[in-house]
Amino acid sequence: MTTVREIRLKSRPTGLPSRDNFEFATVELPAPGAGEVQVKNLWMTVDPYMRGRMNDVKSYSPPFQLGKPLEGGAIGEVTASGDPSLAPGDLVNSFLGWREGFTAPAAGVQKLDPRGLPPQAFLGAAGMPGLTAYAGLLKIAALKEGDIVFVSGAAGAVGSMVCQIAKAKGHTVIGSAGGAEKAKFLKEIGCDAVIDYKATPDLNAALAEAAPDGIDVYFDNVGGAHLEAALNAARPFARFAICGMISIYNATKPEPGPSNLAQLIGKNIRMEGFIVSHHFGMMPQFIADLSKWVAEGKVTWKETVFEGIEKAPDAFIGLFKGENLGKMLVKLA
Ligand code: NDP
Repeated sequence: MTTVREIRLKSRPTGLPSRDNFEFATVELPAPGAGEVQVKNLWMTVDPYMRGRMNDVKSYSPPFQLGKPLEGGAIGEVTASGDPSLAPGDLVNSFLGWREGFTAPAAGVQKLDPRGLPPQAFLGAAGMPGLTAYAGLLKIAALKEGDIVFVSGAAGAVGSMVCQIAKAKGHTVIGSAGGAEKAKFLKEIGCDAVIDYKATPDLNAALAEAAPDGIDVYFDNVGGAHLEAALNAARPFARFAICGMISIYNATKPEPGPSNLAQLIGKNIRMEGFIVSHHFGMMPQFIADLSKWVAEGKVTWKETVFEGIEKAPDAFIGLFKGENLGKMLVKLA
């Protein structure tokens, strides 16, 4: 038996989550039986979409259950195995984060080949957020030569990859993020123009100045005022990849939509939402392109790391306060 801590949903948040919505439990892990593995988690991810799963509403992924451990991506190391496909010391990717370890069917975890990258990169730049950027930009927004690209939430896990992929493909990129440190980072990763939206009284004016010729692609991570400004700045036949709307995830009442949606018509704008899980088939192509861009020095990434499972709720809540530069991660061991 091995003893581990796990985090459960104690109550459903109203508005911004607080530590009171989480509870810690200590559980004993049985030794793995035939076809099972025991895993010590090394890293876990916290992601904005988890906020939606804390509400008791029907959505594309089912709500977390009260009193049950939360779930999410994790990278761990096999400590004991009852399955011939995995041996102690193997690294695995699982969906059993928010806990220090687990015993589970081997079929539910994927053996990780880190390909020279740090394993936690597979929770960020080389994992789900990176693929979100790649699929959203290339498939949903159908990026084409000469496009001017505007990205909100640009200094985060998804946004910073969108900026760099667009730059690697030779595009003019305008990134928006909150705060001077993030604005500096966006310059470092090659954005042609940067908006610190927290220091900007008028987002429409700031975007008009940053993109005097307008924009062809908007990659939306934020919604709200950013979406409205992007509609105003859009050129004819612009494409909007609607990836996320974090500005409303903690809303306690319905937020008003953009007042200028009618611009979709006159400008022939195509606006399309997407969920990355429908594009997992692009993963091999993405990893091949990413490896090339990393080798050429065109793509890099940052991580904000909280240490210890006791910090996981703070890391999660920090996403909604802009406390992360790049991918928000929790280091467990
Ligand atoms: P990030 O790493 O970008 O972290 C969240 C960031 O959002 C914060 O750092 C903060 O940056 C910004 N933010 C928080 N609150 C607000 C607000 N009220 N207004 C504006 N910005 C805010 O997260 P991810 O990269 O993981 O996710 C980015 C977006 O992509 C999210 O909306 C997420 O839900 C979505 N997503 C969608 C997927 C899909 O399949 N469609 C898959 C993965 C992510 P700042 O300091 O700049 O405000």
